[in-house]
Amino acid sequence: MAFKGEPSFRQSVDLMFNRAVKVMDLSPGLEEKIRVCNSTYTVRFGVRLRGAIHTFTGYRSVHSEHMEPVKGGIRFATSVNQDEVEALAALMTYKCALVETPFGGSKGGLCIDPREWEEHEMELITRRFAYELIKRDLINPAQNVPAPDMGTGEREMAWIVDQYKRMNTTDINGAACVTGKPLNAGGIAGRVEATGRGVQYALREFFRHPKDMEAAGLSGTLDGKRVVVQGLGNVGYHAALFLATEDGALITGIIERDGALVNDKGMNVQAVRDWITANGGVKGCPEGTYVEYGTKVLEEPCDILIPAAMEGVINLSNAENIKAPLIIEAANGPVTAGADEILRNKGTLIIPDMYANAGGVTVSYFEWVKNLSHIRFGRMQRRQEESRHQLLIDELERLSSDKGLGWTLSPGFKDQYLRGAGELELVRSGLDDTMRAAYQSISDVWHSRNDVTDMRMAAYIVAIDRVAKSYRSKGL
Ligand code: GLU
Repeated sequence: MAFKGEPSFRQSVDLMFNRAVKVMDLSPGLEEKIRVCNSTYTVRFGVRLRGAIHTFTGYRSVHSEHMEPVKGGIRFATSVNQDEVEALAALMTYKCALVETPFGGSKGGLCIDPREWEEHEMELITRRFAYELIKRDLINPAQNVPAPDMGTGEREMAWIVDQYKRMNTTDINGAACVTGKPLNAGGIAGRVEATGRGVQYALREFFRHPKDMEAAGLSGTLDGKRVVVQGLGNVGYHAALFLATEDGALITGIIERDGALVNDKGMNVQAVRDWITANGGVKGCPEGTYVEYGTKVLEEPCDILIPAAMEGVINLSNAENIKAPLIIEAANGPVTAGADEILRNKGTLIIPDMYANAGGVTVSYFEWVKNLSHIRFGRMQRRQEESRHQLLIDELERLSSDKGLGWTLSPGFKDQYLRGAGELELVRSGLDDTMRAAYQSISDVWHSRNDVTDMRMAAYIVAIDRVAKSYRSKGL
Protein backbone atom coordinates (compact mmCIF):
# COMPACT_ATOMS: atom_id res chain seq x y z
CA MET A 1 0.00 0.00 0.00
CA ALA A 2 1.54 3.34 -0.98
CA PHE A 3 0.67 6.50 0.92
CA LYS A 4 0.89 10.06 -0.29
CA GLY A 5 4.49 11.20 -0.21
CA GLU A 6 5.70 7.79 0.87
CA PRO A 7 7.64 5.17 -1.05
CA SER A 8 6.06 1.85 -1.96
CA PHE A 9 6.32 -1.14 0.38
CA ARG A 10 9.26 -2.60 -1.56
CA GLN A 11 11.07 0.73 -1.60
CA SER A 12 10.41 1.03 2.12
CA VAL A 13 12.10 -2.36 2.73
CA ASP A 14 15.02 -1.26 0.52
CA LEU A 15 15.41 1.99 2.49
CA MET A 16 15.65 0.00 5.72
CA PHE A 17 18.15 -2.34 4.03
CA ASN A 18 20.20 0.69 2.89
CA ARG A 19 20.41 2.11 6.43
CA ALA A 20 21.99 -1.14 7.57
CA VAL A 21 24.43 -1.72 4.68
CA LYS A 22 25.73 1.82 5.06
CA VAL A 23 27.56 0.73 8.21
CA MET A 24 28.60 -2.67 6.81
CA ASP A 25 31.65 -3.60 4.86
CA LEU A 26 30.12 -5.14 1.73
CA SER A 27 31.30 -4.65 -1.83
CA PRO A 28 28.77 -2.57 -3.80
CA GLY A 29 28.27 -5.54 -6.16
CA LEU A 30 27.37 -7.95 -3.40
CA GLU A 31 25.18 -5.36 -1.72
CA GLU A 32 23.18 -4.96 -4.92
CA LYS A 33 22.99 -8.74 -5.44
CA ILE A 34 21.47 -9.20 -1.98
CA ARG A 35 19.05 -6.26 -2.27
CA VAL A 36 17.40 -7.10 -5.57
CA CYS A 37 14.59 -9.55 -6.10
CA ASN A 38 15.82 -12.43 -8.32
CA SER A 39 12.60 -13.10 -10.19
CA THR A 40 8.84 -12.65 -10.07
CA TYR A 41 6.49 -14.90 -11.96
CA THR A 42 3.07 -13.50 -12.83
CA VAL A 43 0.27 -15.79 -13.91
CA ARG A 44 -3.22 -15.01 -15.14
CA PHE A 45 -5.51 -18.01 -15.27
CA GLY A 46 -9.19 -18.54 -15.85
CA VAL A 47 -11.56 -20.70 -13.82
CA ARG A 48 -15.13 -21.49 -14.86
CA LEU A 49 -17.31 -20.51 -11.92
CA ARG A 50 -21.01 -19.73 -11.65
CA GLY A 51 -21.44 -20.25 -15.40
CA ALA A 52 -18.73 -17.81 -16.52
CA ILE A 53 -14.95 -17.72 -16.84
CA HIS A 54 -13.27 -15.61 -14.15
CA THR A 55 -9.67 -14.51 -14.58
CA PHE A 56 -7.36 -14.29 -11.56
CA THR A 57 -3.88 -12.81 -11.24
CA GLY A 58 -1.27 -14.48 -9.06
CA TYR A 59 2.44 -14.05 -8.28
CA ARG A 60 5.34 -16.01 -6.88
CA SER A 61 8.41 -13.96 -6.25
CA VAL A 62 11.86 -15.33 -5.42
CA HIS A 63 14.02 -12.77 -3.66
CA SER A 64 17.16 -14.75 -2.87
CA GLU A 65 18.33 -18.27 -3.63
CA HIS A 66 21.49 -18.17 -1.52
CA MET A 67 19.91 -21.22 0.14
CA GLU A 68 17.35 -23.58 -1.32
CA PRO A 69 14.53 -24.27 -1.06
CA VAL A 70 13.24 -20.73 -0.90
CA LYS A 71 10.46 -20.17 1.60
CA GLY A 72 7.51 -17.88 2.19
CA GLY A 73 3.75 -17.79 2.43
CA ILE A 74 1.00 -17.38 -0.14
CA ARG A 75 -1.37 -14.49 0.49
CA PHE A 76 -4.97 -14.25 -0.73
CA ALA A 77 -6.09 -10.61 -0.64
CA THR A 78 -7.28 -7.86 -2.94
CA SER A 79 -4.23 -5.78 -2.00
CA VAL A 80 -1.87 -8.31 -3.61
CA ASN A 81 0.36 -6.86 -6.33
CA GLN A 82 3.90 -7.33 -7.60
CA ASP A 83 5.42 -4.64 -5.38
CA GLU A 84 3.86 -6.14 -2.25
CA VAL A 85 4.88 -9.72 -3.07
CA GLU A 86 8.47 -8.62 -3.78
CA ALA A 87 8.71 -6.67 -0.51
CA LEU A 88 7.38 -9.66 1.42
CA ALA A 89 9.81 -12.03 -0.37
CA ALA A 90 12.74 -9.79 0.60
CA LEU A 91 11.57 -9.80 4.23
CA MET A 92 11.46 -13.62 4.10
CA THR A 93 15.15 -13.73 3.06
CA TYR A 94 16.19 -11.60 6.04
CA LYS A 95 13.79 -13.34 8.45
CA CYS A 96 15.04 -16.83 7.55
CA ALA A 97 18.66 -15.70 7.90
CA LEU A 98 17.97 -14.08 11.27
CA VAL A 99 16.40 -17.19 12.84
CA GLU A 100 18.75 -19.53 10.99
CA THR A 101 16.24 -21.53 9.00
CA PRO A 102 18.18 -22.77 5.98
CA PHE A 103 16.03 -21.16 3.32
CA GLY A 104 16.13 -18.40 0.75
CA GLY A 105 13.27 -15.90 0.59
CA SER A 106 10.11 -16.08 -1.50
CA LYS A 107 6.48 -15.02 -1.36
CA GLY A 108 3.33 -15.59 -3.34
CA GLY A 109 -0.01 -13.95 -3.67
CA LEU A 110 -3.33 -14.18 -5.42
CA CYS A 111 -5.38 -11.06 -5.98
CA ILE A 112 -8.74 -12.22 -4.64
CA ASP A 113 -11.24 -11.56 -1.86
CA PRO A 114 -11.71 -15.07 -0.43
CA ARG A 115 -14.95 -14.01 1.28
CA GLU A 116 -16.60 -13.60 -2.10
CA TRP A 117 -16.35 -17.29 -2.96
CA GLU A 118 -17.82 -20.53 -1.62
CA GLU A 119 -15.51 -23.20 -0.24
CA HIS A 120 -15.74 -25.47 -3.30
CA GLU A 121 -15.01 -22.46 -5.54
CA MET A 122 -11.98 -21.53 -3.45
CA GLU A 123 -10.77 -25.10 -3.84
CA LEU A 124 -10.97 -24.91 -7.63
CA ILE A 125 -9.18 -21.54 -7.69
CA THR A 126 -6.45 -22.63 -5.24
CA ARG A 127 -5.80 -25.91 -7.05
CA ARG A 128 -5.55 -24.10 -10.39
CA PHE A 129 -3.12 -21.52 -8.98
CA ALA A 130 -1.09 -24.32 -7.38
CA TYR A 131 -1.04 -26.21 -10.70
CA GLU A 132 0.50 -23.17 -12.42
CA LEU A 133 3.19 -22.83 -9.74
CA ILE A 134 3.95 -26.59 -9.48
CA LYS A 135 4.45 -26.80 -13.26
CA ARG A 136 7.24 -24.23 -12.96
CA ASP A 137 8.87 -25.68 -9.81
CA LEU A 138 7.61 -22.67 -7.85
CA ILE A 139 6.10 -25.20 -5.45
CA ASN A 140 8.54 -28.03 -4.81
CA PRO A 141 10.01 -29.60 -1.63
CA ALA A 142 13.59 -28.99 -2.80
CA GLN A 143 13.12 -25.62 -4.46
CA ASN A 144 10.22 -23.56 -3.23
CA VAL A 145 8.06 -24.26 -0.19
CA PRO A 146 5.04 -22.01 0.43
CA ALA A 147 3.05 -21.67 3.67
CA PRO A 148 -0.02 -19.81 4.93
CA ASP A 149 -0.18 -16.03 5.03
CA MET A 150 -2.99 -13.49 5.14
CA GLY A 151 -6.20 -15.06 3.76
CA THR A 152 -4.85 -18.62 3.65
CA GLY A 153 -4.53 -21.38 6.23
CA GLU A 154 -4.47 -25.12 6.74
CA ARG A 155 -7.34 -25.68 4.31
CA GLU A 156 -5.51 -24.10 1.35
CA MET A 157 -2.25 -25.88 2.25
CA ALA A 158 -4.10 -29.24 2.24
CA TRP A 159 -5.40 -28.53 -1.29
CA ILE A 160 -1.93 -27.49 -2.45
CA VAL A 161 -0.15 -30.60 -1.10
CA ASP A 162 -2.82 -32.83 -2.62
CA GLN A 163 -2.44 -31.07 -5.97
CA TYR A 164 1.34 -31.51 -5.82
CA LYS A 165 1.03 -35.22 -5.01
CA ARG A 166 -1.39 -35.77 -7.90
CA MET A 167 1.10 -34.19 -10.27
CA ASN A 168 4.19 -35.90 -8.74
CA THR A 169 3.06 -39.37 -7.73
CA THR A 170 6.59 -40.77 -7.36
CA ASP A 171 8.01 -37.97 -5.19
CA ILE A 172 8.39 -39.63 -1.78
CA ASN A 173 9.04 -36.19 -0.23
CA GLY A 174 5.91 -34.63 -1.69
CA ALA A 175 4.48 -33.73 1.72
CA ALA A 176 7.35 -31.27 2.19
CA CYS A 177 6.26 -29.14 -0.79
CA VAL A 178 4.31 -26.82 1.50
CA THR A 179 4.11 -26.18 5.27
CA GLY A 180 1.25 -25.17 7.53
CA LYS A 181 -0.71 -28.29 6.56
CA PRO A 182 -3.34 -29.85 8.84
CA LEU A 183 -1.95 -32.50 11.21
CA ASN A 184 -3.67 -35.30 9.29
CA ALA A 185 -2.11 -34.14 6.02
CA GLY A 186 1.51 -34.07 7.22
CA GLY A 187 1.37 -30.97 9.42
CA ILE A 188 3.07 -30.46 12.77
CA ALA A 189 1.66 -29.76 16.22
CA GLY A 190 1.74 -26.07 17.11
CA ARG A 191 2.10 -24.60 13.59
CA VAL A 192 -1.24 -22.75 13.56
CA GLU A 193 -0.42 -20.80 16.73
CA ALA A 194 3.32 -20.53 15.96
CA THR A 195 3.52 -16.90 14.79
CA GLY A 196 1.47 -15.66 17.76
CA ARG A 197 3.54 -17.84 20.11
CA GLY A 198 6.68 -16.34 18.59
CA VAL A 199 5.39 -12.82 19.31
CA GLN A 200 4.80 -13.85 22.93
CA TYR A 201 8.27 -15.41 23.25
CA ALA A 202 9.85 -12.32 21.67
CA LEU A 203 8.12 -10.06 24.20
CA ARG A 204 9.07 -12.35 27.09
CA GLU A 205 12.67 -12.17 25.94
CA PHE A 206 12.48 -8.39 25.69
CA PHE A 207 11.16 -8.20 29.25
CA ARG A 208 14.16 -10.25 30.42
CA HIS A 209 16.46 -7.39 29.34
CA PRO A 210 16.17 -4.48 31.80
CA LYS A 211 18.43 -2.20 29.73
CA ASP A 212 16.27 -2.66 26.64
CA MET A 213 13.11 -2.09 28.67
CA GLU A 214 14.62 1.08 30.08
CA ALA A 215 15.32 2.31 26.55
CA ALA A 216 11.56 2.15 25.97
CA GLY A 217 10.80 3.65 29.39
CA LEU A 218 9.25 0.39 30.59
CA SER A 219 9.90 -1.67 33.70
CA GLY A 220 8.56 -4.73 35.51
CA THR A 221 7.06 -7.68 33.70
CA LEU A 222 4.34 -8.29 31.12
CA ASP A 223 1.85 -8.64 33.97
CA GLY A 224 -0.61 -5.73 33.89
CA LYS A 225 0.86 -4.13 30.75
CA ARG A 226 -1.75 -2.45 28.52
CA VAL A 227 -1.73 -3.89 25.02
CA VAL A 228 -3.44 -2.66 21.86
CA VAL A 229 -3.62 -5.21 19.04
CA GLN A 230 -4.58 -4.51 15.45
CA GLY A 231 -6.05 -7.54 13.69
CA LEU A 232 -7.58 -10.53 15.46
CA GLY A 233 -6.66 -12.93 12.66
CA ASN A 234 -4.45 -15.95 13.25
CA VAL A 235 -1.40 -13.98 14.41
CA GLY A 236 -3.06 -11.21 16.45
CA TYR A 237 -5.55 -13.57 18.06
CA HIS A 238 -2.96 -16.07 19.31
CA ALA A 239 -0.52 -13.37 20.43
CA ALA A 240 -3.21 -11.48 22.38
CA LEU A 241 -4.72 -14.67 23.80
CA PHE A 242 -1.39 -16.00 25.12
CA LEU A 243 -0.28 -12.62 26.48
CA ALA A 244 -3.56 -12.17 28.34
CA THR A 245 -4.08 -15.70 29.65
CA GLU A 246 -0.47 -16.72 30.31
CA ASP A 247 1.39 -13.48 31.05
CA GLY A 248 -1.30 -11.33 32.67
CA ALA A 249 -1.25 -8.56 30.05
CA LEU A 250 -4.40 -6.42 29.65
CA ILE A 251 -5.77 -6.24 26.13
CA THR A 252 -7.13 -2.70 26.25
CA GLY A 253 -7.69 -2.20 22.51
CA ILE A 254 -8.63 -4.51 19.63
CA ILE A 255 -8.76 -3.05 16.12
CA GLU A 256 -10.60 -4.90 13.37
CA ARG A 257 -11.87 -4.12 9.85
CA ASP A 258 -15.20 -2.66 10.98
CA GLY A 259 -13.93 -0.62 13.93
CA ALA A 260 -12.31 -1.15 17.30
CA LEU A 261 -13.08 -2.06 20.90
CA VAL A 262 -11.49 -0.33 23.88
CA ASN A 263 -11.62 -1.22 27.54
CA ASP A 264 -9.09 -0.04 30.14
CA LYS A 265 -9.77 -3.06 32.32
CA GLY A 266 -8.76 -5.49 29.58
CA MET A 267 -10.88 -7.74 27.36
CA ASN A 268 -11.50 -11.45 27.07
CA VAL A 269 -9.79 -12.20 23.75
CA GLN A 270 -11.62 -15.48 23.19
CA ALA A 271 -15.00 -13.80 23.73
CA VAL A 272 -14.14 -11.10 21.18
CA ARG A 273 -12.91 -13.66 18.67
CA ASP A 274 -16.12 -15.72 19.10
CA TRP A 275 -18.15 -12.53 18.61
CA ILE A 276 -16.31 -11.73 15.37
CA THR A 277 -16.84 -15.27 14.08
CA ALA A 278 -20.57 -15.06 14.81
CA ASN A 279 -21.19 -11.45 13.73
CA GLY A 280 -18.53 -10.67 11.14
CA GLY A 281 -17.04 -7.75 13.11
CA VAL A 282 -16.49 -6.25 16.56
CA LYS A 283 -19.47 -3.87 16.53
CA GLY A 284 -21.86 -4.61 19.39
CA CYS A 285 -19.44 -6.85 21.29
CA PRO A 286 -20.02 -6.24 25.02
CA GLU A 287 -16.34 -6.75 25.90
CA GLY A 288 -15.48 -3.10 25.16
CA THR A 289 -16.65 0.29 23.90
CA TYR A 290 -17.03 0.39 20.13
CA VAL A 291 -14.98 2.96 18.17
CA GLU A 292 -16.10 3.35 14.57
CA TYR A 293 -12.86 4.75 13.15
CA GLY A 294 -10.76 1.83 14.38
CA THR A 295 -7.37 2.96 13.09
CA LYS A 296 -7.50 5.90 15.55
CA VAL A 297 -7.07 3.37 18.35
CA LEU A 298 -3.48 2.83 17.18
CA GLU A 299 -2.92 6.25 18.76
CA GLU A 300 -4.43 5.31 22.16
CA PRO A 301 -2.09 5.44 25.17
CA CYS A 302 -0.87 1.90 26.00
CA ASP A 303 2.38 0.11 26.88
CA ILE A 304 2.65 -2.22 23.91
CA LEU A 305 1.23 -1.78 20.41
CA ILE A 306 0.94 -4.92 18.29
CA PRO A 307 0.11 -4.23 14.63
CA ALA A 308 -0.84 -7.74 13.44
CA ALA A 309 -2.83 -6.96 10.32
CA MET A 310 -1.00 -5.61 7.33
CA GLU A 311 1.75 -3.38 6.00
CA GLY A 312 1.88 0.40 6.05
CA VAL A 313 -0.65 0.98 8.84
CA ILE A 314 1.75 3.19 10.79
CA ASN A 315 2.82 5.80 8.29
CA LEU A 316 3.53 9.50 7.88
CA SER A 317 -0.10 10.34 8.65
CA ASN A 318 -0.15 8.91 12.18
CA ALA A 319 3.41 8.11 13.35
CA GLU A 320 3.72 11.37 15.28
CA ASN A 321 0.55 10.54 17.26
CA ILE A 322 1.55 7.04 18.36
CA LYS A 323 1.84 6.99 22.16
CA ALA A 324 2.96 3.42 22.81
CA PRO A 325 6.62 3.35 23.90
CA LEU A 326 7.00 -0.16 22.45
CA ILE A 327 5.77 -1.50 19.10
CA ILE A 328 6.16 -5.16 18.20
CA GLU A 329 5.63 -5.81 14.50
CA ALA A 330 3.56 -9.00 14.35
CA ALA A 331 2.58 -8.15 10.75
CA ASN A 332 5.13 -7.79 7.96
CA GLY A 333 6.05 -4.16 7.28
CA PRO A 334 3.40 -2.42 9.42
CA VAL A 335 5.66 0.63 9.91
CA THR A 336 6.76 2.50 6.77
CA ALA A 337 10.35 3.74 6.44
CA GLY A 338 9.19 7.34 6.99
CA ALA A 339 7.21 6.44 10.10
CA ASP A 340 10.16 4.41 11.36
CA GLU A 341 12.31 7.53 11.30
CA ILE A 342 9.71 9.64 13.10
CA LEU A 343 9.27 6.97 15.78
CA ARG A 344 13.02 6.53 16.25
CA ASN A 345 13.40 10.26 16.78
CA LYS A 346 10.59 10.16 19.34
CA GLY A 347 12.34 7.34 21.21
CA THR A 348 9.73 4.66 20.43
CA LEU A 349 11.25 1.20 20.53
CA ILE A 350 10.33 -1.14 17.69
CA ILE A 351 10.82 -4.90 17.77
CA PRO A 352 11.09 -5.49 14.03
CA ASP A 353 8.93 -7.82 11.93
CA MET A 354 11.76 -10.02 10.70
CA TYR A 355 12.30 -11.09 14.31
CA ALA A 356 8.88 -10.57 15.89
CA ASN A 357 6.90 -12.72 13.46
CA ALA A 358 9.55 -15.33 12.70
CA GLY A 359 7.78 -17.96 14.80
CA GLY A 360 5.74 -19.06 11.78
CA VAL A 361 8.64 -19.86 9.51
CA THR A 362 10.60 -21.41 12.39
CA VAL A 363 7.89 -24.00 12.99
CA SER A 364 7.46 -24.35 9.21
CA TYR A 365 11.09 -25.43 9.18
CA PHE A 366 10.36 -28.07 11.83
CA GLU A 367 7.42 -29.28 9.74
CA TRP A 368 9.55 -29.49 6.57
CA VAL A 369 12.23 -31.48 8.44
CA LYS A 370 9.54 -33.74 9.89
CA ASN A 371 8.15 -34.40 6.40
CA LEU A 372 11.58 -35.20 4.99
CA SER A 373 12.44 -37.51 7.87
CA HIS A 374 9.05 -39.26 7.65
CA ILE A 375 8.76 -39.55 11.43
CA ARG A 376 6.86 -37.63 14.07
CA PHE A 377 9.06 -35.63 16.46
CA GLY A 378 9.57 -37.40 19.76
CA ARG A 379 8.53 -40.82 18.49
CA MET A 380 11.97 -42.36 19.00
CA GLN A 381 13.43 -40.02 21.62
CA ARG A 382 10.43 -40.40 23.87
CA ARG A 383 11.18 -44.06 24.67
CA GLN A 384 14.81 -43.24 25.29
CA GLU A 385 13.97 -40.33 27.57
CA GLU A 386 11.47 -42.43 29.51
CA SER A 387 13.93 -45.24 30.15
CA ARG A 388 16.61 -42.77 31.32
CA HIS A 389 14.14 -41.20 33.71
CA GLN A 390 13.06 -44.65 34.95
CA LEU A 391 16.72 -45.45 35.72
CA LEU A 392 16.99 -42.29 37.83
CA ILE A 393 13.81 -43.08 39.75
CA ASP A 394 14.95 -46.68 40.40
CA GLU A 395 18.33 -45.40 41.64
CA LEU A 396 16.70 -42.87 43.98
CA GLU A 397 14.37 -45.48 45.44
CA ARG A 398 17.25 -47.97 45.86
CA LEU A 399 19.39 -45.35 47.65
CA SER A 400 16.50 -44.39 49.88
CA SER A 401 15.83 -47.97 50.95
CA ASP A 402 19.59 -48.83 51.34
CA LYS A 403 20.06 -45.87 53.67
CA GLY A 404 16.73 -46.37 55.39
CA LEU A 405 15.63 -42.85 54.46
CA GLY A 406 12.04 -43.85 53.76
CA TRP A 407 11.68 -41.51 50.77
CA THR A 408 8.84 -42.20 48.40
CA LEU A 409 8.02 -40.47 45.15
CA SER A 410 4.39 -39.61 44.63
CA PRO A 411 2.75 -41.43 41.68
CA GLY A 412 1.81 -38.04 40.18
CA PHE A 413 5.43 -36.90 40.17
CA LYS A 414 6.58 -40.21 38.69
CA ASP A 415 4.01 -40.02 35.89
CA GLN A 416 4.92 -36.44 35.03
CA TYR A 417 8.63 -37.08 35.18
CA LEU A 418 8.49 -40.27 33.18
CA ARG A 419 6.57 -38.81 30.29
CA GLY A 420 9.00 -38.00 27.46
CA ALA A 421 8.48 -34.83 25.45
CA GLY A 422 5.84 -35.10 22.73
CA GLU A 423 5.78 -33.23 19.44
CA LEU A 424 4.08 -30.09 20.77
CA GLU A 425 6.55 -29.77 23.66
CA LEU A 426 9.49 -30.20 21.30
CA VAL A 427 8.09 -27.62 18.88
CA ARG A 428 7.52 -25.11 21.65
CA SER A 429 10.94 -25.51 23.19
CA GLY A 430 12.57 -25.34 19.75
CA LEU A 431 10.69 -22.14 19.01
CA ASP A 432 11.55 -20.60 22.37
CA ASP A 433 15.21 -21.45 21.90
CA THR A 434 15.17 -19.93 18.40
CA MET A 435 13.58 -16.69 19.59
CA ARG A 436 16.08 -16.36 22.44
CA ALA A 437 19.08 -17.01 20.20
CA ALA A 438 17.90 -14.54 17.55
CA TYR A 439 17.29 -11.87 20.21
CA GLN A 440 20.81 -12.42 21.47
CA SER A 441 22.32 -12.01 18.02
CA ILE A 442 20.39 -8.75 17.48
CA SER A 443 21.30 -7.54 20.95
CA ASP A 444 25.02 -8.25 20.45
CA VAL A 445 25.14 -5.99 17.39
CA TRP A 446 22.79 -3.36 18.81
CA HIS A 447 24.72 -2.87 22.04
CA SER A 448 28.26 -3.36 20.85
CA ARG A 449 28.33 -0.77 18.09
CA ASN A 450 27.89 2.98 18.36
CA ASP A 451 26.78 3.29 14.75
CA VAL A 452 23.82 0.92 15.28
CA THR A 453 20.95 2.91 16.69
CA ASP A 454 18.03 0.49 16.88
CA MET A 455 16.84 -3.11 16.84
CA ARG A 456 15.70 -3.06 13.22
CA MET A 457 19.08 -1.86 12.00
CA ALA A 458 20.79 -4.52 14.12
CA ALA A 459 18.47 -7.27 12.83
CA TYR A 460 19.16 -6.27 9.22
CA ILE A 461 22.90 -6.30 9.86
CA VAL A 462 22.80 -9.81 11.36
CA ALA A 463 20.63 -11.10 8.49
CA ILE A 464 22.52 -9.42 5.65
CA ASP A 465 25.84 -10.56 7.07
CA ARG A 466 24.66 -14.18 7.07
CA VAL A 467 23.30 -13.94 3.52
CA ALA A 468 26.57 -12.33 2.40
CA LYS A 469 28.60 -15.15 3.98
CA SER A 470 26.48 -17.69 2.20
CA TYR A 471 26.99 -15.96 -1.19
CA ARG A 472 30.73 -15.66 -0.56
CA SER A 473 31.01 -19.35 0.27
CA LYS A 474 29.37 -20.05 -3.08
CA GLY A 475 32.20 -18.11 -4.68
CA LEU A 476 30.13 -15.09 -5.67
N1 GLU B 1 3.71 -16.25 5.99
C1 GLU B 1 4.53 -16.41 7.13
C2 GLU B 1 5.55 -15.29 7.22
O1 GLU B 1 5.36 -14.22 6.70
C3 GLU B 1 5.13 -17.81 7.24
C4 GLU B 1 6.06 -18.19 6.14
C5 GLU B 1 6.49 -19.65 6.18
O2 GLU B 1 6.18 -20.36 7.11
O3 GLU B 1 7.15 -20.06 5.20
O4 GLU B 1 6.55 -15.40 7.87
